[in-house]
Amino acid sequence: MTISIDREKKIVEILHKQGKASILELVEAFGVSSMTIHRELDKLAEAGIVQKKHGGVVLLTHSTTGCSMCGKPISERMVFIVQLESGEQKRACCAHCGLMIQNQSRDPLNSLTTDYLHGHIISADQAVYILGSDLAICCVPSVLSFGSQQDAEKFQKGFGGKTGNIKKAIQFLHGRL
Ligand SMILES: [Zn+2]
Ligand SMILES: [Zn+2]
Repeated sequence: MTISIDREKKIVEILHKQGKASILELVEAFGVSSMTIHRELDKLAEAGIVQKKHGGVVLLTHSTTGCSMCGKPISERMVFIVQLESGEQKRACCAHCGLMIQNQSRDPLNSLTTDYLHGHIISADQAVYILGSDLAICCVPSVLSFGSQQDAEKFQKGFGGKTGNIKKAIQFLHGRL
């Protein structure tokens, strides 16, 4: 089973053009199995970019695709998602904004962030954060999330910053570190 970042991008492009697409259409457009398409749509849906509807998929509207904190467009590579108890979902451009939203919310239920190295969605509570690295990719001061201590340290060697858990990251954002 191959998951192609390229194909995911193209799926999003198609959806930008037409708003929605059927699974069959995507299967024909890419010449892959419907299982593969479903897998990729599941990933995009998990990141809050698309929504699967019976037999097809729609692009979520623009109002839900900008960062809830700063309004910047959200890239799949950095998305941070805060799930509220009310069922509402807030999405942020990066862990910097995501942790600010989580910290301001009265009823955060669960938060997800993206492993910067591999692009996987991971639990924000369990992520390892790199705080204030030299590589300011999105919002400053930069906060990047990683799935493992090893990956975080690998990144740290090249780009500096401190490692820390979610608590430390929130303190860092509030200038208490
Ligand atoms: Zn933001
Ligand atoms: Zn950001």
